[in-house]
Amino acid sequence: MSNLKTHFVELLRRASTQLPPDVTAALKAGYQREPPGTAAQTALATILKNIKLSRKNSTPLCQDTGTNIWHVYHPQNICQCELEQAIREATLEARNRAYLRPNAVDPITGLNTGTNLGIRFPVISFYGWKKQSVRASVMLKGGGCENVSAQYALPVAGLHAGRDLDGVRKVVLDAVFQAQGKGCAPGIVGVGIGGDRITGMIEAKHQLWRPLEDKNPNALLAKLENRLYRECNQLEIGPMGYGGKTTVLGVKAGSIHRVPASYFVSISYMCWASRRASVTITPTGNPTFHKQVPSSQECNTPNCKG
Ligand code: SF4
Repeated sequence: MSNLKTHFVELLRRASTQLPPDVTAALKAGYQREPPGTAAQTALATILKNIKLSRKNSTPLCQDTGTNIWHVYHPQNICQCELEQAIREATLEARNRAYLRPNAVDPITGLNTGTNLGIRFPVISFYGWKKQSVRASVMLKGGGCENVSAQYALPVAGLHAGRDLDGVRKVVLDAVFQAQGKGCAPGIVGVGIGGDRITGMIEAKHQLWRPLEDKNPNALLAKLENRLYRECNQLEIGPMGYGGKTTVLGVKAGSIHRVPASYFVSISYMCWASRRASVTITPTGNPTFHKQVPSSQECNTPNCKG
């Protein structure tokens, strides 16, 4: 497939400099909600101005361009090595054009590679599907918000959180309360219920791909998300922790099976700079850049759920 690197560079440019429309709309709604002249409204006004300038000038929305997390759907006849190589070359090019910051640091030596490339950096997940096109989506996950992500093993006696959805609710509220605006609130909270310590966190991060306005197909989880959204915003932590009604822009929860002995709740906290972008590339190399990341279920091949 031709031009992969070129399209991936453009994908990274869009991800780094253009906030998705649902996140921008939620920030605007937060601005309207906060009383004029408050620190909360001023913080949101600054964020909204930043969003406009970044788009206009093709400059990163934030100095921390984060961990780059890729989900790539591909036909079976394309080698994953080819896709990975194009992603790594595009990453270097995007770093050279200052769409991305060199963010890959060796934890042993403390040295930054300077290229934004490292071991399992960027993070890439491949999925085969029956379509002939390639769909690549990228999320930029900032370090500050990653630092306030959390994982709980239910029950948690101190929070009176048992092994049920009410226990889940209590620990999510605790995580947002502990964050106290650190991680650049207003945030988006991805919740992974169940799994083990690894798969639970993967599920939590997976939730961050969802558009803010979507509705959880599971009625119980939809109810939980709505309640948590309301209750998180009643914590009055506000944008950047300045106080106010806009602490989170959304709460998204998914569940995966667990073993009887464990009940993990994994919480992936995303800052207001929730940067995600997606492109579909035809076999002849023509790209369509999507306004929102399409659902991964969207393989229209008959009888294929991929
Ligand atoms: S948490 Fe998000 S907005 Fe804050 S510095 Fe990091 S990437 Fe930027």
